[in-house]
Amino acid sequence: MKAIRLGQNLVQLTKYPLVFPMNCYVVREDDGLTLVDSTMSSPVDAIDALVKDLGAELRRVALTHAHGDHVGGVAAVRQRYPGVEVSLGERDTPLLAGDQSLRPGEPQAPVKGFFVKVDWQPDRRLLPGDRVGSLEVVPAPGHTPGHVAFLDVRDRSLIAGDAFQTRAGMAVSGVLRPLFPFPAIATWHKPTALTTAIALRELKPSLLAVGHGPALKDPDRAIGGAIEVARKAFA
Ligand SMILES: [Zn+2]
Repeated sequence: MKAIRLGQNLVQLTKYPLVFPMNCYVVREDDGLTLVDSTMSSPVDAIDALVKDLGAELRRVALTHAHGDHVGGVAAVRQRYPGVEVSLGERDTPLLAGDQSLRPGEPQAPVKGFFVKVDWQPDRRLLPGDRVGSLEVVPAPGHTPGHVAFLDVRDRSLIAGDAFQTRAGMAVSGVLRPLFPFPAIATWHKPTALTTAIALRELKPSLLAVGHGPALKDPDRAIGGAIEVARKAFA
């Protein structure tokens, strides 16, 4: 996997950077490391290298949403690092077990995207405002019903999962980028994704890190532009 240091406390790991880039992130905390997302298959070799490099243990795995290309690597991580605490948004947890039913009050649109069978359950079901180390859980529905983003309160880095993509062009979840259409095709409800994009911009992130594509420093203008495109595309 390709590793890029994005900040003092943040490393981006990318699987298949040229053909089908899938990112996961390692966040450094005083007590060890948090892995955010896990790609489709095991990221363990890259994590082992970082654990050695940083001289810190892996403590936690925090997941932005239940799609297979974000949770698929968790089984291998749990095997290699027994005792890691795995957390996922409360609302996306049933999707892991194959329950795609919608809740009252939600847009009644079918859940989309690719899911894998897993043999584990999250140890923690995250709610808005919860903390995973320095990461604040921010609701970011739209791509999936229970998608969450993680804001590092130390430096306002935002790990936004698939709420945005930057591969093949910056876009709000649901805006089709023909050269990398998969996040858009997997998006549950576009108007909700747009509302989320606006709310995430309000957080004034210093850095935007996403599931597919490179991270953006000072992303405000790029997010603003992507919101305008989405407004027109979804109108
Ligand atoms: Zn996804």
